[in-house]
Amino acid sequence: MEAVIGCDGVNSIVASMVGLRPVRFLPLSTCVARGFTYYPDGHQFGAEFVMIIKDQVRLGRVPVSYNLVYWFVTRPSTNQDSTISKNPVLMRQSLMDSLKDFPAHTVEMIRNCDMNMLHLTDLKYRPPWDLLLDNFRRGTVTVAGDAMHGTGPFIAQGGAASIEDAIVLARCLAKKMHNNDANKRVQVEDNTLIEEAFDEYVKERRMRIFWLSLNSFLIGKKLDAQSLVVKVIILALIVVLFRDPDWHIHYQCGTL
Ligand SMILES: Cc1cc2nc3c(=O)[nH]c(=O)nc-3n(C[C@H](O)[C@H](O)[C@H](O)COP(=O)(O)OP(=O)(O)OC[C@H]3O[C@@H](n4cnc5c(N)ncnc54)[C@H](O)[C@@H]3O)c2cc1C
Repeated sequence: MEAVIGCDGVNSIVASMVGLRPVRFLPLSTCVARGFTYYPDGHQFGAEFVMIIKDQVRLGRVPVSYNLVYWFVTRPSTNQDSTISKNPVLMRQSLMDSLKDFPAHTVEMIRNCDMNMLHLTDLKYRPPWDLLLDNFRRGTVTVAGDAMHGTGPFIAQGGAASIEDAIVLARCLAKKMHNNDANKRVQVEDNTLIEEAFDEYVKERRMRIFWLSLNSFLIGKKLDAQSLVVKVIILALIVVLFRDPDWHIHYQCGTL
């Protein structure tokens, strides 16, 4: 008995094996830079994750320890990005330019970043409607995490949803692999139990990842829209569909 669970990220090879439609670049043509900044004397940011948004630029700041801060910046892509992404000095300068209207300490954070850890990449996603239509299992192969449902970072839930996937998948497999009455391991003669477990997992996850993906997609579209009318229509859709602004953090992975 052999099974493959592809958690190889948004450019997943396993997803192609399963037959998922290809991922797309974000409509906003957004790119993301990620890095670390070390503060020898400690930083002042506490332990909270903070996101600062101005127009089409977002900065996320995640303290890792008293001395180390992880951060990311998303901004619209430019024609120079393929050149910039190969040169850390250009990357850092371009980020500082993007953050010129941000608080001074954020610009300082970028200025003092670890140049060896700087990355700039385009963002990709699976459209929400593909999540409704795609078959996430082929034989005993399935996918989880960004390989299954890569989204833009607009509601910051990709990692959380990936953990939900893992919990649900583990539970579906455990249910099939153990005989509940005798608490003994079932002797598996063929792959049927695994396929059934994967199908249950996909069934349980599909609508959850669809709504997360749709929420993120609409926020991305709103940022991207040039026309005020379109922005208002998208905002109205978001308000109607996602009345509770915290709905996405009501995690759905059953009782732990
Ligand atoms: C800017 C930004 C901000 C974000 N903020 C948040 C947030 O605040 N909260 C949140 O929950 N999520 C957030 N996310 C999303 C989160 O980072 C992802 O959803 C999460 O990392 C997905 O985890 P994963 O394990 O599925 O994929 P990944 O983290 O991409 O891991 C995949 C791994 O597979 C490896 N791999 C790929 N191909 C192969 C191969 N062929 N062989 C072997 N290994 C391979 C890769 O090297 C990588 O280590 C953010 C994303 C971005 C871009």
